[in-house]
Amino acid sequence: MKAIRFADELTIEDIPQPEPGEGEALIRMELAGICRTDLEIVEGYMGFTGTLGHEFVGTVVESPSDEELIGNRVVGDINLAPWVEDSVQQRHDPDRTVLGILGKDGCFAEYLTLPLENLHLVPDAVTDEQAVFVEPLAAACEILEQVHIQPTDHVAVLGDGRLGLLCAQVLSLASSATVLIGKHRTKLELAAKNSVRTLNRHELTEADHSNFDVVVDCTGQPEGLEAALNLVRPRGTIVMKTTTAVSPKVHFAQVVIDEITLVGSRCGQFQPALDLLRRGLVSVDDMIDAEYSLKDGLQAFEHAARPGMLKVTLKNDPS
Ligand SMILES: [Zn+2]
Repeated sequence: MKAIRFADELTIEDIPQPEPGEGEALIRMELAGICRTDLEIVEGYMGFTGTLGHEFVGTVVESPSDEELIGNRVVGDINLAPWVEDSVQQRHDPDRTVLGILGKDGCFAEYLTLPLENLHLVPDAVTDEQAVFVEPLAAACEILEQVHIQPTDHVAVLGDGRLGLLCAQVLSLASSATVLIGKHRTKLELAAKNSVRTLNRHELTEADHSNFDVVVDCTGQPEGLEAALNLVRPRGTIVMKTTTAVSPKVHFAQVVIDEITLVGSRCGQFQPALDLLRRGLVSVDDMIDAEYSLKDGLQAFEHAARPGMLKVTLKNDPS
């Protein structure tokens, strides 16, 4: 089968189809999304080698321990660890592997395997083009598990990329005083269409300085944390969503002096994200810039790396 692999460079290779192990399913990838993290891995983040990709929707084709799953559309939790009741504990298991990121071949291939407990059925009302956003949408929902946002809190989401757009929609459900701060007119317009208040970062004034109870850094840039520190009020909270291969340069004295709470935030639970999509409370329509066939994956990566891209997807060719 074809797979997009990374070792020293990005390649498309023919590799053997994986076989589902005990308690695993074999999934045919239908649609996968290239994420900022994938681009960072190609830059050396995580030191990962193998098949890339962690955002997908697929169809179960083999499931020896639960044959009823065969033929169902699924999305999959990306953290793999011995199953425990608490998915948060699983996410932080020191021996975990992570799909396409850490020690486990990912979804930019015709087929992938995942344990059954990682799989979530996709409701009929949710299309493949919507379901491919479940993983980043779950990451947006995770903020509400970590930070108690009051309905009157001033919340700023920094960065109008894909994750910023999703976080702003989710947090707008929690506080109507949520604003997305970005620099791309078309993306801010897209957010506004989905009932999100927006502000071009050039329109920020002195009054916005130290004015926000919660600031979420979704810039994907090492400078994002410094910008967030500029906006958060004393004793406020910064949610850090940016992971870059380069470490940010920050004067941490301000964190101490202003008693800022820094919250690192990564993955979330899939079920709330699927529910938001099914109920139409979050829209991911118009967020796909381009769709490529898996075999044209290298061009797809080049496209995804262009400035200002929201989402480039990879489609499996009909078998
Ligand atoms: Zn991702």
